[in-house]
Amino acid sequence: PAYVPNPDRYEAMPHRRVGRSGLKLPAVSLGMWHNFGDDTPIARQRAIMHKAFDLGITHFDLANGYGPPFGSAEKNVGRILQEDFSGLRQELIISTKAGYPFFAGPHGSGGGRGHLLASLDHSLSSLRLDHVDIFYSHRFDPEVPLEETAAALDAAVRAGKARYVGISSYSATRTREMAAILRGLGTPLVIHQPSYSLLNRWIEEGEPSLLDVLADEGVGCIAFSALAQGLLTNKYLNGIPEGSRATQGKTLREHMLSEENLEHVRALHKIAEARGQSLAQMAVSWVLRDPRVTSVLIGASRPEQLEDTVASVRGPGFTADELAAIDEHARD
Ligand code: NDP
Repeated sequence: PAYVPNPDRYEAMPHRRVGRSGLKLPAVSLGMWHNFGDDTPIARQRAIMHKAFDLGITHFDLANGYGPPFGSAEKNVGRILQEDFSGLRQELIISTKAGYPFFAGPHGSGGGRGHLLASLDHSLSSLRLDHVDIFYSHRFDPEVPLEETAAALDAAVRAGKARYVGISSYSATRTREMAAILRGLGTPLVIHQPSYSLLNRWIEEGEPSLLDVLADEGVGCIAFSALAQGLLTNKYLNGIPEGSRATQGKTLREHMLSEENLEHVRALHKIAEARGQSLAQMAVSWVLRDPRVTSVLIGASRPEQLEDTVASVRGPGFTADELAAIDEHARD
């Protein structure tokens, strides 16, 4: 049967303005780093995307290489977009990125013009789209002048292949430089995508911190791995369950599940319980407590996980005492 979206999808989900741009994002966005490769049944991928959209998650985040195998997530998502979401393109915010190794050869990765623009064309073809809404430089490339990377992003917008541009995981200093170069080109930097969670607070650190620079430059922020790949959920409180990301030997590495980390996770879980939230919900609410953060990018291997996590947008605010208790355990 054809997918019919929930007519109330905009009621439950707040949308926040991205920096000083005309773009708005749902407070919670869906990332497709895992669970959209050829190793996940397409029926489950569909179910996750339908659930997301029904919950008001209108933003899907991709990158050239997401899989496995490499690049298959964009192909699978492209198929589902065409088959199930036709007629809804103008409601969707689709992003992709280039910068990590993707093609063979010397222009297969990095921040050079050739790689960025070839990769974007490849992504558009996989996604079956004529444009993405946000195109990111996935990482700072020390071998390529920022001017060249910025000019390639600007060219993507001028060619109509991207509506907005962003950068991911750039330091505060590089972000400041990139914002200035892009402003000069007439294609403002609208968004930065850094990692940020209760267990990873680098964007708050330094003088100025990345968050300070973003606020100052009018750039939005979308935080990734806010659940620390599942560690900040109730999943690992009593061991490693079958089928979880940690058993797949991929990106959630064993040292992250150290006894020391788990002690902090259990303490945070207690604080969440006292607030009437699950740990996943508190982890997302906490990232969103800062108005400089526009959206939280979460992953999900099942539709039910999205229901749990998204309830965070209805969660209570934080008292000063709660924040202080959290700080005792929320550290890298
Ligand atoms: P999360 O920290 O959100 O972890 C997601 C995983 O946590 C899920 O796949 C699931 O794992 C588990 N989980 C989620 N919700 C629940 C729940 N309610 N209860 C129990 N377990 C839950 O994020 P990711 O690390 O996946 O990153 C999110 C997105 O951020 C990526 O998809 C990508 O778009 C982006 N990203 C960007 C990067 C960049 O360089 N710019 C780098 C990394 C991510 P399980 O399989 O165990 O069920």
